[in-house]
Amino acid sequence: MALLVQKFGGTSVGTTERIEAVAEKVCRFRKEGHEVVVVVSAMSGETNRLIGLANEIMEEPTPREMDVLVSTGEQVTIALLSMALQKRGCEARSYTGSQVRIVTDSTHTKARIKQIDEQRMREDLDAGRVVVVAGFQGIDESGNITTLGRGGSDTTAVALAAALKADECQIYTDVDGVYTTDPRVVDSARRLKQITFEEMIEMASLGSKVLQIRSVEFAGKYNVPLRVLSSFQEGEGTLITLEDENAMEQPVVSGIAFNRDEAKLTISGVPDTPGSALRILKPVSDANIEVDMIVQNVGEDNRTAFTFTVHRNDFKRAKEVLQRVADELGAREVGGDSKIAKVSIVGVGMRSHAGVATQMFEALSNEGINIQMISTSEIKISVVIDEKYLELAVRALHSAFGLDKLAVEEEAVKRS
Ligand code: ASP
Ligand code: MG
Repeated sequence: MALLVQKFGGTSVGTTERIEAVAEKVCRFRKEGHEVVVVVSAMSGETNRLIGLANEIMEEPTPREMDVLVSTGEQVTIALLSMALQKRGCEARSYTGSQVRIVTDSTHTKARIKQIDEQRMREDLDAGRVVVVAGFQGIDESGNITTLGRGGSDTTAVALAAALKADECQIYTDVDGVYTTDPRVVDSARRLKQITFEEMIEMASLGSKVLQIRSVEFAGKYNVPLRVLSSFQEGEGTLITLEDENAMEQPVVSGIAFNRDEAKLTISGVPDTPGSALRILKPVSDANIEVDMIVQNVGEDNRTAFTFTVHRNDFKRAKEVLQRVADELGAREVGGDSKIAKVSIVGVGMRSHAGVATQMFEALSNEGINIQMISTSEIKISVVIDEKYLELAVRALHSAFGLDKLAVEEEAVKRS
């Protein structure tokens, strides 16, 4: 018997039929003897619909009222799900974030959870009831309703699991787990049985949008075992946990992530003097433009070139800022390219293996793909390439690091 926190996202509760299906599933766990806390999102499309209504009234609604508005979506689903559970003879009670007392800071529309009172939930669990909690919302110290940012129900679920010291936090969604890479790009992509918090954060921040990144950070910090699985299909999904020190033969690379949302800017002929990096990047950050990769070339003739990437939506604005900087600094020219892609290999196994970068560069070179920028961290190597080679690069790396082969081996095991 375990204490489980189960989160169902918008598509899983998108219609009353689907809500009934969720109730069936939850009842089954209850009947097996587990204690269950359920966290739900708003019905799919509902949060967007509410934001749309607000925008009909004003372009930039006040964040406090926005939170009062969008938090209603989840209140609908907790009530409907509790009814569906009760109809099945499964005792249940619904609570909004403020009723639980999920206390957050006062940063409306992207609040952070500070504290959770788990007392009332415990009383219900002890009385044999399923507790149904509205995701995405809380209350600040002065009693204002707050929300946790888009996709925030994942974070609610993990936070409740941490507060209740649950055995597992299960995130039910429309995919059946975390994959070695996007199956739409590589046919042989396969579901990972297990991945570490750190790897998942890298994969998620690189565009594998299965979970809100913040929920994974939270789970890592409090060591909450997190499982991603499908609401519609049976299966064990992907377990996200701490690194298993005793694991035999960890793969060096666990996944290939990629991102087409970036653009590259170069300012060249910059005087190679102290402070020039600051003078280039400060106006960019002052303009609220986030910078990802940064490369500065070795100076020649006291001049250097400086390249960095930004989100593609910020490309035009960043270029304008850079043009001004170039004039001030007496730099030679500003260039840029918005048709780039970033491809990364991710794996905790890299820490203990040399030559991973070489293997990556070899795989790309064999396909004749030119690398424009490189950046590395302890468990990740990223390269920027021409967008048109993205799919080729992902496929080449997926097979170079044996991620295809694992699929084949698993098939063989299944058949034998
Ligand atoms: N309903 C909110 C959203 O659409 C929160 C969530 O789904 O996690 O962003
Ligand atoms: Mg969601």
